[in-house]
Amino acid sequence: MESKFEPMICPVCGKYEFVDDTDLEKADPDYEGYSGDQCSYCGWIYDVDQAHNPDSANGNNELSLNEYKEWYKERLKEDPDYNFSEASYEPEPHVCPVCGRHQFSDSFSYETCPVCGWVDDGVMEEEPDKWAANANDLCLNDYKTRYQKLCKTITGYNYSRDQYGK
Ligand SMILES: [Zn+2]
Ligand SMILES: [Zn+2]
Repeated sequence: MESKFEPMICPVCGKYEFVDDTDLEKADPDYEGYSGDQCSYCGWIYDVDQAHNPDSANGNNELSLNEYKEWYKERLKEDPDYNFSEASYEPEPHVCPVCGRHQFSDSFSYETCPVCGWVDDGVMEEEPDKWAANANDLCLNDYKTRYQKLCKTITGYNYSRDQYGK
């Protein structure tokens, strides 16, 4: 049975406020966007049953609430500024969508590909026909076309050497 949402301060760290944020919810009583809400400080996942029953661990979190509090205390001992969101952040290396010959270190890195000159821009990558003049002068598909032309015209075209296409 799905429990009703109750606004509360994170019972683990006391720093994060789970709010009934959702105009969406008011518009749609079945909206359950809050069910996966997670405290950015300690990582506790919102679970109203667990908040009322701190020894239960059968809900959204692997640990019971009391165990989670202990776990969080340990983290704070190691690092008084411990922040779950930062600690669990993992960069997403990915290959340049234009030339496929360079790896960017993270999504939205805004690094420039040394091979083709494409600036890493996740928005432009997601919608390859849009966003010209965002981080790059052309949209992804047009940029690709121009790159391929440059490769045909200039033997061994390399952006960091030739600087065409900017
Ligand atoms: Zn918390
Ligand atoms: Zn490239």
